Amino acid sequence: MKKVGFFRSILFKFVLIYVLLILVAMQIIGVYFVGELENKLVANFKSSISDNIKVLTFSLGETMAEHTQESNTPQIDGPTLEEDIQAILEDKLANDVTEVRVIDYISRRVIGTSNPDNLDMVGKKTTDLLVKRTLVSKQEDEDILRDRKNGERLWVLSTPILDKQDKIIGAVYTIADIENVYKRVKDINEIFITGTIIALGITAILGLLLGRTITRPMSDMRKQALAIAKGNYSRKVKVYGNDEIGQLAVTFNNMTKKLQDAQSTTEGERRKLSSVLAYMTDGVIATDRRGRVILINEPAAELLNVSRETVLSQPIVSVLGLKDEYTFDDLLEEKDSIILDHSTQKEAYILRANFSVIQKETGFVNGLITVLHDITEQEKIEEERREFVANVSHELRTPLTTMRSYLEALAEGAWKDENIAPNFLSVTQNETERMIRLVNDLLQLSKMDSRDYKLTKGWVNFGKFFNHIIDRFEMTIEKGHITFKREIPSTEIFVDIDEDKITQVLYNIISNAIKYSPEGGQITFRLKVEDESRIVVSISDQGVGIPKNNIDKIFERFYRVDKARSRNLGGTGLGLAIAKEMVVAHNGKIWAESKEGKGTTIFFTLPYEAGQEDDDWS
Ligand code: ADP
Repeated sequence: MKKVGFFRSILFKFVLIYVLLILVAMQIIGVYFVGELENKLVANFKSSISDNIKVLTFSLGETMAEHTQESNTPQIDGPTLEEDIQAILEDKLANDVTEVRVIDYISRRVIGTSNPDNLDMVGKKTTDLLVKRTLVSKQEDEDILRDRKNGERLWVLSTPILDKQDKIIGAVYTIADIENVYKRVKDINEIFITGTIIALGITAILGLLLGRTITRPMSDMRKQALAIAKGNYSRKVKVYGNDEIGQLAVTFNNMTKKLQDAQSTTEGERRKLSSVLAYMTDGVIATDRRGRVILINEPAAELLNVSRETVLSQPIVSVLGLKDEYTFDDLLEEKDSIILDHSTQKEAYILRANFSVIQKETGFVNGLITVLHDITEQEKIEEERREFVANVSHELRTPLTTMRSYLEALAEGAWKDENIAPNFLSVTQNETERMIRLVNDLLQLSKMDSRDYKLTKGWVNFGKFFNHIIDRFEMTIEKGHITFKREIPSTEIFVDIDEDKITQVLYNIISNAIKYSPEGGQITFRLKVEDESRIVVSISDQGVGIPKNNIDKIFERFYRVDKARSRNLGGTGLGLAIAKEMVVAHNGKIWAESKEGKGTTIFFTLPYEAGQEDDDWS
């Protein structure tokens, strides 16, 4: 942040306000004080002069009255009126009076002046307006004039001279120098201004010092706020006193402490949440209130097969691929979960999305949390279970229906017929046996499905064991019907197996080979050791073969390429499924290769460790 310039600072404003306030106060005081002082001084000046003039007017009045009487009586020698007046004017004048003129009422002539320079005016008619006005009105009159020579202010006063009968006999025209009074006021004004300037200077300095005590903690707080913004909580504001600012600083320090605690709590919670999100297996996506993704954990990105960076701030509906069916508001109201079927033709992939709305107490929606689970496996198991129940019911119903119809026929009288009855009974017997086989197979599978299914292993010389089983089959088949070919090494190959289970595996595979072999076909039995780590057993026939598309499916429960044919041959559709379970339980693999019409080979492997038998047998 930029530093605040001095002229924009609070300190400057503080000082400015301070100075302006003082200035305004001084101005008001100055205007009132100087104005009053001027009025008082001028009034004093005028009253002292007019008092002086009053005395003068009185003696002038008397002198003039005396001379009027003398002019009426016989002539007595003595001083003339002008001389008497001149004599009065010479001694009774106040200091500031510059000139006093006496004007005769009747002749309107100047009959005396105190100013020796103006003696030539004596005897001349007065032209002064002020005097004329007084002579007419018998009233005192005054004015302020400017001296023509030096421009100084002069106070002029015209006073009527009255005789004892209050008749006007003349006028006194006084000129006084009032400039001194104004000069004095001006001097006082100047002293006042100088005082004001000094006061302002001192005030400004005091203001600066005083203001700094307020602004320093403030700028300290500003610095601390900046430090907090950068994550540094270690600073503390210095507390200068216990005033409001001091209390603010204390509060600020407390707030910093609380903020630090809150921040560390939030940070802790955030870390906890992010590790929970990172280590949970469910996918979690959080959105803002407009439905844009603000958080997505790694499992969610993996489940949706997207990168976290690209989906951030994208609408959740398009991230989940629900853009066409749902809006964000629909998701907010969704009470149940939504199934996201991302299955392709090749692979099933189903997700379940549960939604939880983040809401304030006021009901304001803040966002949405979506939790994703991969339910592909669950769905697959469920589907398999449904299929299995349907298959089992179907497999049991077929022989039962057949048996019922034969038994009905027998009950209706066929039992009496010696030709039909044994045939019918043999059919029902076959069907019963098939059902028993089916139930046995199912029991076998369910045993293997159970968790505590265990193999009873032992060391077996596999070549010998394999030959022994083939021998048993060879004895049962009609001579010449099918030929057996063995490619089994005579060396001892010891493997650790559950003999009964592998017997069953071989039994199921070989009986299929025989079942599907044509008349005179050959069945080849092979055994070899591969990579010193496993044995590969294969049984090939020259039968009908299996279509390429179905080759992997033959190991599924109840799967048959040709249902009718399998059933006719007494198959349950579980033989290879059981074989597969057993081979896998031995950590082996089982698969088929086939050419339609040419024949089929079923392979299976079992783990083998070279030299193991020597150790064990020694
Ligand atoms: P089934 O009891 O029907 O024989 P299996 O699980 O043993 O049941 O075999 C499943 C299906 O695989 C059979 O129905 C058959 O269509 C096919 N199959 C198995 N072995 C062979 C083979 N050797 N030749 C041709 N088809 C075979």
